[in-house]
Amino acid sequence: MFQLRHVTYTATKGKGTAYLKKLALESNSSYLQKYQNICSVVPNTNLKDFEIKNEPILEYKKGSAERSQLEKALKTATAACEEIPIVVGGKEIRTDNVVYQVMPHNHSHKLSKFYYADSKIIQNAIKVAVETQKKWDRTPLNERLTIWERAADLMAGKYRQDLNAATMLGQSKTVIQAEIDSSAELIDFIRMNAYFLKECAKYQPISENIKVTKNSMRYRGIDGFVAAVSPFNFTAIGGNLAYTPALMGNAVLWKPSDTAMLSNWRIFNIMREAGVPDGVVNFVPADGPVFGDTITKSPYLAGINFTGSVPTFNRLWKQVGNNIDSYINFPRLIGECGGKNFHFVHPTADVDTVVSATIRSAFEYCGQKCSACSRMYVPESLWSKIKSGLIAEAEKLKLGDVQDTTSFTSAVIDDKAFNRITSYIEHAKNTPSLNILTGGTYSKKIGYFVTPTIVQTQDPLDRIMTEEIFGPVLTVYVYKDGDLNQAMNLVNTSTKFALTGAVFARDENFLDQALEEFKMTAGNFYINDKSTGSVVGQQPFGGGRMSGTNDKAGGPHYILRWTSPQAIKETFVPLRDITYPYMNA
Ligand code: NAD
Repeated sequence: MFQLRHVTYTATKGKGTAYLKKLALESNSSYLQKYQNICSVVPNTNLKDFEIKNEPILEYKKGSAERSQLEKALKTATAACEEIPIVVGGKEIRTDNVVYQVMPHNHSHKLSKFYYADSKIIQNAIKVAVETQKKWDRTPLNERLTIWERAADLMAGKYRQDLNAATMLGQSKTVIQAEIDSSAELIDFIRMNAYFLKECAKYQPISENIKVTKNSMRYRGIDGFVAAVSPFNFTAIGGNLAYTPALMGNAVLWKPSDTAMLSNWRIFNIMREAGVPDGVVNFVPADGPVFGDTITKSPYLAGINFTGSVPTFNRLWKQVGNNIDSYINFPRLIGECGGKNFHFVHPTADVDTVVSATIRSAFEYCGQKCSACSRMYVPESLWSKIKSGLIAEAEKLKLGDVQDTTSFTSAVIDDKAFNRITSYIEHAKNTPSLNILTGGTYSKKIGYFVTPTIVQTQDPLDRIMTEEIFGPVLTVYVYKDGDLNQAMNLVNTSTKFALTGAVFARDENFLDQALEEFKMTAGNFYINDKSTGSVVGQQPFGGGRMSGTNDKAGGPHYILRWTSPQAIKETFVPLRDITYPYMNA
């Protein structure tokens, strides 16, 4: 394994460099020197091993320090309508196209003021990013890791409650939903992606005889720029989409969602404070189509890191297809999109678990998690108990202001979402095969409030069972116990999505069968657990079919989508003869 050791720089402090020197001397080569000059992601300094653990989720009990810090941060954020500029290459830009972010649970309250970049500003940001990328890609790995580690510490400490307050007020998340997202998950993304990169850089190709040839691999960023287009529903996703490509040596144009502006702006500033140089990530709020049209026209588009709805991703993909002859790379298209996530209940399931898991999955954050359960299949034999359990629990859920800690959930994100979700409720009211069991009311007078709604359907293929609603509407189809296989087939064939799914059963034979039958129905599959709540590093996330390109954010494979590795062979034995041995008769 000697030939591998020259890259196991983390093994013991100090030892990696010694090996490199020894190797360089042994092979009589300027290898080490050259490497130091040409490689960014290659060990040329000693990296300290950092411990890799998920960030603990704080509880915010009455009287706790975190609760009083959060209350302070909420007060400050509520009192101001923060002004957020466009930032390109470190320079702040303001335009006449002013937009406001409001609190969804109290939409008369403006939380932040920002500006849309026009096509010209976006083109300039591309120019800045392309230039910055060349320099940034040469930044030694150690330096980048230090910045990411510092950023994670800032997020976990000094700025934790600013991130949470911005997420609570801007995206209407309750305390715990904000803590899970803008603290724990965000910090995990930043820390763990750095760790994955460090681990990944240990791999080097085989060199059979190091005195003859040496093979190596370096991880380059991709020539050009990456466009990160993020959704409203997870602050952490914005951070991951923009900063994982950056970590890997790319320069980025980050277009945050209008309705997650303040929390995303917080991330941008923390990363700057941690040491990400100007121009590496450019903060470019813009009208979606203007941004999409401009970036897909640039020959330098190296990739799109997208999370959002299928129609938006389809549009971007088509535009890239139309412009394919003009690019200097094949742009990487990474898209995590929608879902129609299922809970499938077997007659042997534990009813209490089914009820609690389904309520949490379907209604936490108003069902606005891409993984939220939205269709459910229940055997007739368990239906009466599950039905009464679901109705009783759903009716206990308190809808309200996020600052009221007794609220289980709050408002949906905006007027567009409100209209879409309530159109499904109206459809349920007007369709004889659909029966609303609880909920079905809504109001947008103060905030965009929709009560948790449970619908029973006689038709398993009604559009309420096949289309993404992205709101607090759960539909249940009750199947006859004897029709188990047909019901399983419905899960597999009803929708084009395959994001998450869960089965509930105590029968192990059934669970084996489910693992096979449901293999392609979900990128993240749960057994006796809810379909939501993936944790970075524990359940890397992403769906198949039309739910996305399944690149498994929060896992080691994801970072590799943002590098263009280069294999290097260096030969030490001079070649002075063009003949092969067989030619010498
Ligand atoms: P969306 O598609 O409306 O918007 C996503 C982003 O795309 C926003 O920043 C938006 O401004 C931008 N955009 C819109 N049109 C654009 C265009 N033509 N070109 C470029 N950018 C454009 O999605 P959303 O409402 O913000 O988020 C909800 C969706 O995201 C749901 O479908 C949900 O399932 C999905 N989602 C998926 C995952 C996942 O990991 N699979 C995670 C979170 C959200």
